[in-house]
Amino acid sequence: MKVVTSDKVIYTFRPDMEPVQKILPDEIVEVETNDCFLNQIENEEQLIDEIDFSKINPATGPIYVEGAEPGDVLKIEILKINLPDKGIMIVAPNEGVLGSFVERAQTRVVKIENKVCHFKSISIPAKPMIGVIGVAPSQKDGEYPTGIPWKHGGNMDTTDITEGAALYLPVNQKGALLALGDCHAVMGDGEVCVTGCEIRSKVRLKTTLIKGVPLEWPIVETNNSLAVVTSGNTVEGAIEEATRCAVNHLSKGLNLDWSDAYMLASLVVNIKVSQVVDPKKTVRASISKEILNPKRIF
Ligand code: CA
Ligand code: ZN
Repeated sequence: MKVVTSDKVIYTFRPDMEPVQKILPDEIVEVETNDCFLNQIENEEQLIDEIDFSKINPATGPIYVEGAEPGDVLKIEILKINLPDKGIMIVAPNEGVLGSFVERAQTRVVKIENKVCHFKSISIPAKPMIGVIGVAPSQKDGEYPTGIPWKHGGNMDTTDITEGAALYLPVNQKGALLALGDCHAVMGDGEVCVTGCEIRSKVRLKTTLIKGVPLEWPIVETNNSLAVVTSGNTVEGAIEEATRCAVNHLSKGLNLDWSDAYMLASLVVNIKVSQVVDPKKTVRASISKEILNPKRIF
């Protein structure tokens, strides 16, 4: 199995990037990821205001998928997200939903044992997820720092991007140029304080190409749902975009005219918050696979 090591990182998703590894479609690859601070915080005495901020949100890659062409969809099955023995959380003034109430930076180390996160004496079942995952953006969209989510993926901080799920990303450039990092052992929808339980990890992935299917925004498939993941400058803007996409997918996939698809959306689409603390906010419009099977989209 090919391994991409955690020293091969990018901080910006660019339309043109130099790949560090080449894989075949359907090949399983292991990607070693750093935590979102490039592992600069190891204990509770180290604070967020002491670290090098040019090294935030490293994404390991880019990985060139042979045969991927603009206009294809890259399906990424998340087979395994390895849990280390600890995760890091921080709060800092002016960060997160309640940033204006935070008086000073603080760090908390969360012990992880047997798939349980120990926040002080409180036990939380781990649900590992990938915060940053994306491909090279289109020429039109241009460059995106890894901390910003957009149509190419990026810092979507979406709890559904977890073990056993599959993420579909639009291929914008030859080889797709996949990179990922910023895993969380657990996170609540919203990521209200600005961090999840930030971990370094080893992620095992299987990529598959779906040829010639247009896709505007990422889609994540879980056991029972499909969700289109959209971002915008405001939550409202992201919701409008997610709803527009969900209605289009319902209309095309189920052969309904737009107004019927819009009404159906009101019955079966669940709008969920992904994160509200990054420079762009991310939501998802989730639809049961009993209503819309992925085969009807791809
Ligand atoms: Ca993140
Ligand atoms: Zn994170």
